[in-house]
Amino acid sequence: MATPQGQHLACTHLFLRAVRDWELGKEYRLTLAHQRAKAIVSAFEFTLDEILSCSERFWDSNMDPINLLDGAATTLWTIHLNLATATIAQFAKDRPELQELCRKLLLFEVSAQYMVTEVGHGLDTQNIETRVTLLSNGSLDLHTPNPGLQTCRFMPPTLPAGGLPRIGIVMARLIIGDTDHGIRPFIVPLNDGLEMHPGVSCRLMPWREGTRPVGHSITSFNHVNLPPTALLGSLRSILPSRVQFLHSIWRLGIGSATISAVTIPALRLYAYIVATYSRRRKVTNTRGETVPIISFRTTQIPIVRALAQAAALEALFKEIRVYFGGQPGTALELDALQIRNALAAVFKTTAIYHYRGSSVELTDRLGAQGLYVQNQLVGLEQEIRGLTIAEGDVTVLCIRLASELLLGRYSVPPPRNPSSFLALHEHGIFEDMQVILKSIGGKYRSEEFNRLLLPQSVALIRSIGSRMAYEAMISAGVHPELVALYEASTISQDMAWYIEGKVVVGKKQVMQMEEAAIGEAYSKLDVLLNEIGIEPYVQAPIVSEDKWKNWVESMPVLRNKSDMEIPKYQGSGNHAIVSLEDQRAKL
Ligand SMILES: Cc1cc2nc3c(=O)[nH]c(=O)nc-3n(C[C@H](O)[C@H](O)[C@H](O)COP(=O)(O)OP(=O)(O)OC[C@H]3O[C@@H](n4cnc5c(N)ncnc54)[C@H](O)[C@@H]3O)c2cc1C
Repeated sequence: MATPQGQHLACTHLFLRAVRDWELGKEYRLTLAHQRAKAIVSAFEFTLDEILSCSERFWDSNMDPINLLDGAATTLWTIHLNLATATIAQFAKDRPELQELCRKLLLFEVSAQYMVTEVGHGLDTQNIETRVTLLSNGSLDLHTPNPGLQTCRFMPPTLPAGGLPRIGIVMARLIIGDTDHGIRPFIVPLNDGLEMHPGVSCRLMPWREGTRPVGHSITSFNHVNLPPTALLGSLRSILPSRVQFLHSIWRLGIGSATISAVTIPALRLYAYIVATYSRRRKVTNTRGETVPIISFRTTQIPIVRALAQAAALEALFKEIRVYFGGQPGTALELDALQIRNALAAVFKTTAIYHYRGSSVELTDRLGAQGLYVQNQLVGLEQEIRGLTIAEGDVTVLCIRLASELLLGRYSVPPPRNPSSFLALHEHGIFEDMQVILKSIGGKYRSEEFNRLLLPQSVALIRSIGSRMAYEAMISAGVHPELVALYEASTISQDMAWYIEGKVVVGKKQVMQMEEAAIGEAYSKLDVLLNEIGIEPYVQAPIVSEDKWKNWVESMPVLRNKSDMEIPKYQGSGNHAIVSLEDQRAKL
């Protein structure tokens, strides 16, 4: 969903040629990512209230297509605002020094990171070991215990970058005397933009090839002295440790949903680029006619299916926002936190699986050209792959949620139409799993639960997500062609279940449903592509002959010296290399 701010940014010098970044040095690209993150934060001008309450404007900004142009910038700004700034803002009401810090964060004058994961604990965050000890003078001592890698912080970029001072919200155990007071958030200075803070050590990990550089790091703390004000919250907590932990990391549940929203414009970008390329690319068909490759059903299907999935995800994303309003310490109780985390897991799982299936198929439809990051799609695939793990690993989110739903600890919103195909599917999978649970005596910590039920968790959560997305599409008044296509293609993904359960007559019925829905949606392709407003964010040279030609002309050429026509070459041996500067100057 494009916003005026995003549309404006896409036309600025900073973003206009983002697709050509890949030819620049990585350090420079890292600086660019910080500049773009700052530009996005500055353009949206969110207030603390908007971020804390997940206002519609803040929520929707996560599916703005501007987030597609530099995945590193998107990672930086979303962590900065949604995780770090929001965690501080929760405590800022009566603390002027935090209000001043928040003011700087809202302007991106200071860059903020969010640090939970330890190398040795990964997803097992409840058992992290980093400690903050209250000293007798009232100050705090932050330390990475057990020298060695295991308790170092894993992934958040803590290096000096972008010329901005950087702080981290570090989750660590608060130790007072001999007592562990649970995992709490602390504000920790990481660097001043040039040099690391004393006691903070950052080991720079290799750049993740095929993605834009973020500066992922492994970080350790060696008795870093912090003022008492570094602690966010009170020294003594009355909450049980698990509840305290959930309250400390409450923004992560929101992040699981919001970072996955980038799949919505991404699916649209893929559909647009593939549709545009497939219209201009001509081949000879079996009748000897020259036809565009979009005339083949095998190209039409992934394009319209991705558009239907994007519409479904957008409707679902908007619909669940109301659950994300409160904050711990106010009216938000554990039940509400659990439902919120459940819906975030449902959305993330559905979004990632739709995106994964469609992105690979659509990139394939670009042939060899699809393999180049300059054509936008393959780089996004790598970046969104990272999002599958960050802020809630999809498999583990599904395992946890499926287990809690089966045990009846809480439930997701029930179907509006329990007799729809997708609601029957969800109900059937849930019932089957409950039968298994009963057969093992309800023992959810047993080996049988591990063997028989965990592998079905993803299927259950996907079935919930697809049903909810389908209902949200209907409520939002999405084009009926897209609703029908979403329903038919979801059924076809688990056709065996529908046939076995006699919910459909047979394979033929599903194929007819899907074929009719694809035909209807494809007949509206122009309208659908116009409506998604993705064109200003398309920088891939593959979409037009001219852009493709310009890009090819910017590539170095090797020729024998005797074949040179233009005098400005740098000769060497029998070959000569065209000066890159000369070629690029022509663009
Ligand atoms: C792009 C990116 C950015 C990140 N940014 C940050 C950041 O800013 N701050 C931060 O603190 N962290 C960050 N992380 C770290 C992230 O939170 C961890 O990678 C994540 O928690 C998983 O931990 P791990 O990689 O050690 O995987 P592991 O814990 O080793 O898990 C690997 C796999 O094991 C399986 N597994 C693990 N536990 C279970 C279980 N209980 N049940 C079943 N299967 C299980 C799952 O299949 C899982 O995918 C980032 C990660 C990525 C990829």
